[in-house]
Amino acid sequence: MSRAPFSLLLQDSDPFQIISNFLDSPVLRISGQLIVLLFVVLWIALVYWTYTDAGRRGATSLLWGIVAVIFPYVGTLIYLIVRPPEYLDESRERELETAVLERELRNNTLLCPNCRNLVEKEFLICPTCAWELKKPCINCDRPLNQEWGLCPYCGTDQRSGKKMTW
Ligand SMILES: [Zn+2]
Ligand SMILES: [Zn+2]
Repeated sequence: MSRAPFSLLLQDSDPFQIISNFLDSPVLRISGQLIVLLFVVLWIALVYWTYTDAGRRGATSLLWGIVAVIFPYVGTLIYLIVRPPEYLDESRERELETAVLERELRNNTLLCPNCRNLVEKEFLICPTCAWELKKPCINCDRPLNQEWGLCPYCGTDQRSGKKMTW
């Protein structure tokens, strides 16, 4: 029987010793502490971010802050999944824009009956499809609906051209 396996075992004990020395070394202890510190800093940053982001989105920021503290990383992850999709400022701005658009729609514009594009109420002809939207009053040239027989602005009868008198 050869002695080779035994001598191999003896040789193998050296790397183990190196690893054991390395594990006891202050370099590893310090880097281990640094990694722990890094995770703690990241955790605090995530708590802060969760808290402020929830505030900006109109969610209960204090509640989400606490969740992020109690469940490091996971709390923030859950918040990311369930958080409101947009910032409060943005949604307010959008609401305002929609309101303005709606008011414009009510007051100044209507849909072309032919091509369904927005046209101003004063338009005589649709700029998109050239559909005759209104006819001008034969007296004051103001835009009148096709079916109106009488101009509501100047009181002129559109067929006879006579002005209504009161
Ligand atoms: Zn049109
Ligand atoms: Zn008129």
